[in-house]
Amino acid sequence: MENRKKNVLSAIQPTGDLHLGNYFGAVKNWVAIQEKYNAVYGVVNYHTMTMPYKAANLQEATWKMIFMVMACGVKVENLFIQSLIPEHAELTWIFGCTCSYGELARMTQFKDKGEQLKEGDKEAFVSAGLFYYPVLQAADILIYHADLVPVGKDQEQHLELSRNIAARFNRQFNKEYFVHPEPLYTETPKVLSLADPTRKMSKSLGEKHYVNLFGDADRIRKQVRSAVTDTGERNDVMSAGVSNLFELLKACEKHDIRQSLLDDYSSGALKYADLKEAVVEALIELTQPLKENLAAIQADKRM
Ligand code: AMP
Repeated sequence: MENRKKNVLSAIQPTGDLHLGNYFGAVKNWVAIQEKYNAVYGVVNYHTMTMPYKAANLQEATWKMIFMVMACGVKVENLFIQSLIPEHAELTWIFGCTCSYGELARMTQFKDKGEQLKEGDKEAFVSAGLFYYPVLQAADILIYHADLVPVGKDQEQHLELSRNIAARFNRQFNKEYFVHPEPLYTETPKVLSLADPTRKMSKSLGEKHYVNLFGDADRIRKQVRSAVTDTGERNDVMSAGVSNLFELLKACEKHDIRQSLLDDYSSGALKYADLKEAVVEALIELTQPLKENLAAIQADKRM
């Protein structure tokens, strides 16, 4: 095997604000691995069109996402915008003829997202694009000859499809052209909603459920101070809300203060207000420089 850096491909949709879950669960890892690998990261705006979206905002949201991930430390030379590279769409067509209708119909994300759309509205528009998007995803991955793709459990099936498409294409064209991408498992925390720690932090749950990475310090303070700590679990196990606050301290690499508060928890002396203040401080320390980076990038007229 030749001694070269492996190619890594990862992507994010430009769906508006970046929240703590996106940062700790994805973007921070992008920054961490971008030297070790030959990393390519995409803002995949065609994927955003598969679910309801605001057409007039998509262009601005795409660039904002580029600026936000740059502010987090992702190098600009590692970034691409999907819609600016026509080969993504072209290869999607070719790959669409390389996989079967049945394969796509078995994708659980299509079923889940389709049902999610229909939950609130029985007549909801489930686009053909939503059905087809794993093919576009295969094009995103294979076009860059990605050896590795950081994935969560929910994306494993799509990666398997990408491998099947690569194998079928290579067989059909009698050439080992496309690489078979493998999952890259990295340990990333699952950040829960502060307002309802039984659920994952997500924008789709509504404003109070996510902490905007670039939001103002007062709002972060308020959100953390009002975080739900007791969710009615057994009191001999740490509640999801308290555990989530400890996880945030760990994600912010505040290991000493976390350990000291954990000791307080074990001895029964922990005041939740102290835990929350430690989280507030850690988050403000984390987000302040990122906000400054973003302001500088947006003020740069060359961008
Ligand atoms: P999304 O916008 O939900 O597609 O998320 C973009 C990226 O952020 C994906 O890699 C997700 O796995 C990650 N992510 C989103 N929400 C969370 C969360 N609450 N905790 C950890 N990672 C998350």
